[in-house]
Amino acid sequence: MQIRLYNTMTRRVEDFEPITPNHVGFYNCGPTVYWDPHIGNMRALFNADILKRMFLANNYTVNHVMNFTDVGHLTSDADTGEDKMEKGAARENMTAWEVAEKYIKICLDDMDSLNIIKPTHTPRATDHIKEQIELIQKLEKKGFTYEIPDDGIYYDTSKFPDYGALGGQNLSELKAGARIENNNKRNITDFALWKFSPKDKKRQMEWDSPWGIGFPGWHIECSAMSMKYLGDHFDIHTAGQEHIKVHHTNEIAQSEPVVGKPWVNYWVHWAWLILKEGKMSKSSGTSYSVRDLMAKGYDPMSLRYLMTLSHYRQPLEFSLESLDAAATGYKNLVRKIADLMSDDSGEIDQKLYQQWHDKILTPVSDNLKTAESLVVFQDLLKQKDINSATKLALVGFVDDLLGLQFIEHAKKLHELESETAPAEIQEMAQKRLSAKKERDFATADNLRTQIDSLGWTVMDTADGFKLVKKQ
Ligand SMILES: [Zn+2]
Repeated sequence: MQIRLYNTMTRRVEDFEPITPNHVGFYNCGPTVYWDPHIGNMRALFNADILKRMFLANNYTVNHVMNFTDVGHLTSDADTGEDKMEKGAARENMTAWEVAEKYIKICLDDMDSLNIIKPTHTPRATDHIKEQIELIQKLEKKGFTYEIPDDGIYYDTSKFPDYGALGGQNLSELKAGARIENNNKRNITDFALWKFSPKDKKRQMEWDSPWGIGFPGWHIECSAMSMKYLGDHFDIHTAGQEHIKVHHTNEIAQSEPVVGKPWVNYWVHWAWLILKEGKMSKSSGTSYSVRDLMAKGYDPMSLRYLMTLSHYRQPLEFSLESLDAAATGYKNLVRKIADLMSDDSGEIDQKLYQQWHDKILTPVSDNLKTAESLVVFQDLLKQKDINSATKLALVGFVDDLLGLQFIEHAKKLHELESETAPAEIQEMAQKRLSAKKERDFATADNLRTQIDSLGWTVMDTADGFKLVKKQ
């Protein structure tokens, strides 16, 4: 099926043509591991997961690379401010290395809770200092760098004529709009490739280099690691939309002079998950993590379902009310699927299967329209002339495509419902039914409470009662 994606570079939805047939390589800029990832961070990782699952459903092999930024780059895009890793270390009374270890584990656990398939490679910046130094040396040889004494090695953006193309700006516009943060830079848009350690202080993370002891600038790690794991020319580069104007613009500037143009064929950017009052922020205490929501009793699949209902190029306004609504919608679907499991006799109708498989896959292949795919899926569940076996096979396909674990959840519900209650509980339920018939509601209510306290729920049905084990 033809895959289409919105390319930030050309500002339109384009037919996707892979470099190698039936194979895709993509890089997604991962988190800086100095603090709890919030669900806004996780939305970007969820979107990358949908991108990957869409390719897998179209029978591609996928090489998905996501880095962990564990080098303490500075808090602003412009190489000024505090070092994030050292800030995290001071906050938690740990070393910067321990902080990285802790938050990489938390991030991987949260990805697992959200059923995000682990990337093929998850390289860490600190494991690739050599590759970063080599890339800076190549840029130096080609004349793209200069040194600011006691500061670092900088990239001269005026040497790269296409600078700013990804964000739709040229260098003179950028110069006019920028704030002056470092008077020693030749151009306001120049950025650090290597920063020197301060002479009077030993940093927790620093390395030797041909230019002196220090640490890499932030942007260079993604160029170096993507080239290492995906080659000099690869299909897709993704991240949140906040990375268009500086981080990805700089990645292009430092990569294309070395590997040729174009370095990347498609640039795909995710919109944010926001709150009514604006962007979710860790520092102002307005952020939720996946674990926060689980502690409040939410199933992470409800959050994944909420994300599936929105399009990646639109902001998703999050509230606990919208999550509650998604949780109800998700449960209703699980309920319907569990009902299919009580009558799954019959053969899978291959023709109908293929027809609905394509109907479900088409919107996701067309620029990842997940919500439209869910509409088709709900329509499928309503069809009276399709048997349960065929429907259940298609639910399995939807699980592969959208990762919503419908089968797993429905099976659990179905098993709870089909378990037979012990004889004494059955007897109590029988007594309750008789009491109800005799209009002795006090006894009936009392028996219901007793049954409930023994872990079962009694439900009235047309021909008597049904006992369901409580979750
Ligand atoms: Zn990056």
